[in-house]
Amino acid sequence: MRQWLSCAVALGLGAVPLPPLIGQARQPTTPPLILVKAGRLIDGRADAPLVGGGILIDGDRIKAVGPLAQVQAQARGVRLIDLSQMTVLPGFIDAHTHLLLQGDPTAQSYNEQLLYESTPYRAILAARNARIALEHGFTAIRDLETEGAMYADVDVKRAVERGEIPGPRIFASTRAMAPTGMYPIVSDNWELELPHGVQPVDGVEGARLAVRQQVAHGADWIKFYADRRYYFTPDSVLHSWVNFTDDEARAIVDEAHRLGRKVAAHAIGSDGIAAALRAGVNTIEHGDGMTDSLLDVLVARGVYWVPTVTVSVYVAGPRGGPWGPMVAHQRQAFAHGLKKGVKIVLGTDVGGFPWTELNEAKEFGYYVQYGMTPMQAIKSGTSLAAELLGEPGLGVVAPGTYADLVAVAGDPLKDITELERVRFVMKAGVTYLTQ
Ligand SMILES: [Zn+2]
Repeated sequence: MRQWLSCAVALGLGAVPLPPLIGQARQPTTPPLILVKAGRLIDGRADAPLVGGGILIDGDRIKAVGPLAQVQAQARGVRLIDLSQMTVLPGFIDAHTHLLLQGDPTAQSYNEQLLYESTPYRAILAARNARIALEHGFTAIRDLETEGAMYADVDVKRAVERGEIPGPRIFASTRAMAPTGMYPIVSDNWELELPHGVQPVDGVEGARLAVRQQVAHGADWIKFYADRRYYFTPDSVLHSWVNFTDDEARAIVDEAHRLGRKVAAHAIGSDGIAAALRAGVNTIEHGDGMTDSLLDVLVARGVYWVPTVTVSVYVAGPRGGPWGPMVAHQRQAFAHGLKKGVKIVLGTDVGGFPWTELNEAKEFGYYVQYGMTPMQAIKSGTSLAAELLGEPGLGVVAPGTYADLVAVAGDPLKDITELERVRFVMKAGVTYLTQ
């Protein structure tokens, strides 16, 4: 009930406990000026919060930010949103999600979704997931492939943009890529043509064609799987089998960059990470097998690391094998990366765990456990994530940026888990959740 109510309020319909009509959803009524009173304001950029802040919002953008009295002086006849008992932050950004997936701790749970659920059914669940993300305070996500659901992420994005369904800003990567036979579903039964979790891509020309096809169908980002089959050697180095030849991987990156798209590489073992870096990717996903020398390359080239700790912990038990030791290895590498100044951006891999089971904001807590200060963790899921996306209008509360705000009751600098209990969410000046 809370969910429908919040949406109805967002659309200016009052407390009607029914979903809004589609026609009305297309035209949310946003008053021209809003003044938000913020008890404590963490703006995503400053190292300390501002106590007693004011935020003036004009349409979908922030017009002014500062001490309340100062901002109030410019605000006549405004609508007031009183968050003076709360901490206000920029909307969160999750740099690694899967809207079209409902958890895949085991191969069986993955295969069942691809074999027994239609893409339309999966897209309906994705629409629900988009709402969950928004109500957990995530006003932007980078969705890193549909796992066999083709270009349905672009459809969900379109529906959000048109106001048909509530959801975060979506940066979509569509199908992702791996060479033939190197990504599920692969079966011993050669008589069956089974669904592919990614677009199978072979050869340099095939790589360029796949990038062009994905961009043509709406990909904002290009993703490829750099490796698979992870194993430790006795020296505690996490290795992997590399998927693409260097020529193929370079062709993917080169073509993507040529078309103005950045590239994310799934890379877990040290061999996969090294291969992805040789190819010139922009972000390393998971990166459990980071070594000191690989971390140095990330720093030197300004490559972002998106560790997705929540999913690592979630799948370690059900998957067994190296997956448990991989969590411990990643924790150590995370500490080294922090010391070296690697740009670590918050990403959860939600969809790898069910959207309905864990709140993505749990990831902030892991980063604090792993050595970040609460403020560093907040920046990794706001301003630094916006930098990864190349979106200066997101991730900070500042004049000219989008009015994407969340509020929590307590002080997340004292207890980071406050971020898992969001009380207020605004996207583009429209309130979607208020408690
Ligand atoms: Zn993922």
